[in-house]
Amino acid sequence: MLRVLVVEDSPVNLELVVTILQQAGHTPVPASNAAEALELARAQVPDAILMDIQLPGMDGLAATRLLKADPQTRHVPIIALTAFAMKGDEEAAFAAGVDGYITKPLRYQHFLAELERVVARSRARGAT
Ligand code: MN
Repeated sequence: MLRVLVVEDSPVNLELVVTILQQAGHTPVPASNAAEALELARAQVPDAILMDIQLPGMDGLAATRLLKADPQTRHVPIIALTAFAMKGDEEAAFAAGVDGYITKPLRYQHFLAELERVVARSRARGAT
């Protein structure tokens, strides 16, 4: 069971991700913007963060940079979620510090496998 902070401004997508995580036995913690996500990440230090890149106001890349610059949260693996994968987007996400990258629409099995892979790799590095 993983406690997963889900940062997604679309209520429909947020509900979908929350449902997928719950059905897989994980515990989702929802956030609909970057400010809320930063506050929850620092307060709860989740096992992983699913970060929508396209957010109103501060985007997911800026939020990722802040989380990776903070000693309290830098070890928490972040997986970017993006709807419009353009050439260079993936490179920009990894440059900002994400640990994984998933494009929407989500494919359940691939999404859960990627989440578990990224968390396992992060723990194997002794980063927990
Ligand atoms: Mn969005």
